[in-house]
Amino acid sequence: MNKIIKIDQEKCIGCGQCISACPFDAIELKDDKAFVIPVKCRGCKQCIRMCPVRAISI
Ligand code: SF4
Repeated sequence: MNKIIKIDQEKCIGCGQCISACPFDAIELKDDKAFVIPVKCRGCKQCIRMCPVRAISI
């Protein structure tokens, strides 16, 4: 099984860049914080470089 990304909620500013970047629709915003939807994430890492505050890791 692929690793899935982690989003640091302390760092996230809710910009939504990662949501636009994800080809699998695996990230959603709740209360201005991004959350990964584990069953959808395939660990493609497209979102990681888009995050302006480096809140995403794998
Ligand atoms: Fe949060 Fe980074 Fe996603 Fe923007 S790109 S919503 S700061 S995790």
